[in-house]
Amino acid sequence: MTYRADPARYDTMQYRRSGRSGLKLPLVSLGLWQNFGGTRDYPSAMEILGHAFDAGITHFDLANNYGPPAGSAEELFGQVMARDFRPYRDEMIVSTKAGYGMWPGPYGDFGSRKYLLASLDQSLSRMGLDYVDIFYSHRYDAETPLEETMGALAHAVRSGKALYVGVSSYPEKQTREAYRILKEMGVATTIHQPSYSILNRWIEDDGTIDACDELGIGIIAFSPLAQGVLSGKYNRGDKAGTRADAQNSSLRQSHVEPNVLEAVENLEEIARSRGQSMVQLALSWVLRRKEVTSALIGVRNLEQLKDNLGVLNNLDLDDDEIRRIDEATKN
Ligand code: NDP
Repeated sequence: MTYRADPARYDTMQYRRSGRSGLKLPLVSLGLWQNFGGTRDYPSAMEILGHAFDAGITHFDLANNYGPPAGSAEELFGQVMARDFRPYRDEMIVSTKAGYGMWPGPYGDFGSRKYLLASLDQSLSRMGLDYVDIFYSHRYDAETPLEETMGALAHAVRSGKALYVGVSSYPEKQTREAYRILKEMGVATTIHQPSYSILNRWIEDDGTIDACDELGIGIIAFSPLAQGVLSGKYNRGDKAGTRADAQNSSLRQSHVEPNVLEAVENLEEIARSRGQSMVQLALSWVLRRKEVTSALIGVRNLEQLKDNLGVLNNLDLDDDEIRRIDEATKN
């Protein structure tokens, strides 16, 4: 049966403007990094994506290399667009990126104009789209002049293949540089996509969050649950079927060292005292900062998505709770 979006889809979600741009994003956005690859079947993908859209999640985040295998998440999303989401295209923000290894040889990785623009064309073709809403440089490439990488982003906008552009995981200094170069080309840096969670605060430490605030760049925080560690399941030894269990897992031992698990245990107490699940506490923490436009989650099943969405029921953290969270994670 063809998907029909819920008429009540905008009743509960909240939206924030990305920096000083006109683009609004939902507080919770959904990424297709590891959970929508080659082994995911269409009905279960559609169950999750349809529920997300019905709950007001208008933003779906992809990259050329999402899968595994690389490219398969965009292919699957392309099928969803063709079969079910097409009538809602104008209600959606679809992003993609290029910057990590995608095809062999010198033109399938990092930040050259050759790579970025060829990759964008490939992404559009896999997803069956004429344009993406946001195109990112996925990582800073120290060996390519930033003028060239930003020039490719500006070209993507001018050619109509991307409406907005952003950078991902760029440190503070390079974020400022990227902004300056794009501005000279008449293009705004609309968004920055860094990792950010209770357990990973590098954007606070290196000043990226302040730079974005100053320059009017929105922030969409990826891995806000530290890839699932902040759900508390690894404290319960609950590993079967999880990311930690996967081959070539992106979740390394250092992510679940005893001091990390101890911190998570302390956090569970705070979540309990707020009548919230662990993931909801973790998301409300990321969203407590006004500079953060959206928390970019990943989910393996519908149950996880529903749990994540529960954050909307209790977003406010008071100073005492924030202090207790800092205390719980200081080691
Ligand atoms: P999260 O930190 O939200 O981790 C998602 C994982 O957490 C899920 O796959 C699941 O793990 C677990 N999880 C989620 N909800 C629950 C729950 N309620 N209970 C128990 N476990 C739960 O984010 P991701 O690391 O997946 O990243 C999110 C998105 O960010 C990506 O899809 C991608 O779009 C983007 N991203 C961008 C990067 C970049 O370089 N720009 C890099 C990484 C991500 P499990 O599958 O083990 O159950």
